[in-house]
Amino acid sequence: MKTLFLLVALLTGFGSQTNAANQTAIVIHGGAGRISPESLERFGEENYRATLRRALQAGHAVLKKGGHATDAVEAAIVVLEDSPLFNAGKGAVFTSAGENELDASIMDGANMMAGAVGGVTVIKNPIKGARAVMDKTPHVLLTGPGANEFAKSAGLEIVDRKYFHTDHRFESWEKRRKEKPELKPKSKNGASLSGDRFYSTVGAVARDKNGNLAAGTSTGGLTNKRFGRIGDSPIIGAGTYADNRVGGISCTGHGEFFIRHAIAFDILARTRYLKTDLQTSADVVVKEQLKAMGAGGGIIGLDADGRVVTSFNTPSMFRGWIGTDGKLTVKIFK
Ligand code: ASP
Repeated sequence: MKTLFLLVALLTGFGSQTNAANQTAIVIHGGAGRISPESLERFGEENYRATLRRALQAGHAVLKKGGHATDAVEAAIVVLEDSPLFNAGKGAVFTSAGENELDASIMDGANMMAGAVGGVTVIKNPIKGARAVMDKTPHVLLTGPGANEFAKSAGLEIVDRKYFHTDHRFESWEKRRKEKPELKPKSKNGASLSGDRFYSTVGAVARDKNGNLAAGTSTGGLTNKRFGRIGDSPIIGAGTYADNRVGGISCTGHGEFFIRHAIAFDILARTRYLKTDLQTSADVVVKEQLKAMGAGGGIIGLDADGRVVTSFNTPSMFRGWIGTDGKLTVKIFK
């Protein structure tokens, strides 16, 4: 009888389902937009690719050791925050006041817990700040001086504000500051799809061997944003969302649109309620709805089984993944 059961189980693919459940995956982004040939040349396309690979490997190493998806997301994002190439941590863009204010968030799809920091100025790795808010407070989002203070008390690495200064971001700010003071919208709804911006926020989504999903996003926001402005990246449901039942999403793009339309949540909710696949939901929201509004940007994600999803309505998006097959892929253009 037992043998018969085993045989039936094997033939019906019972065993392969168990394998799929153990599979890990990670996907990351380094922003979407029209990458200028000057920036690619200045830092070298290979440097961007190598940094994305390092971030993927850092996250994947956690998963391979049996670590939790939230730890993998944090590990990947720390690499991108520490690199001056991306608009997060070191390399963050400048506000209208000529300073850096950073936003980040993380969500654990296993228990729907989340943490975020907004407008922080001295936390070396804002994603760690977000993680500490999730793990050590009853809150979801801390901002400004309160968040800085909290990070100090949580024992996170604190830096002088000057740490976030990079010459290339300062130059971009000086240029943009002359062109358009304080992001004055060109059109009635402040649409951005003219393609003259690059949103180089970073994000990661991971699935661990126990099927837990987590997502995180970190950014300096938009160049010449009004100081005090907070974008979608630290807003749970807008820039970041994870739910083990459906998937995880991290966004990049013109944050005001991502907030107004709760983009990360909407993509996952569509998938769940309409019983469609995550790629289809992402494409409808990013390539049809956001595009129709003139909002530039993109998303990365994983579905509940660890299938990689990417979608963007701009000419390029820095992205990469190590799928359930263990293969590493990095892409910039369409
Ligand atoms: N979404 C970010 C924000 O609006 C910007 C980006 O994706 O680069 O703050």
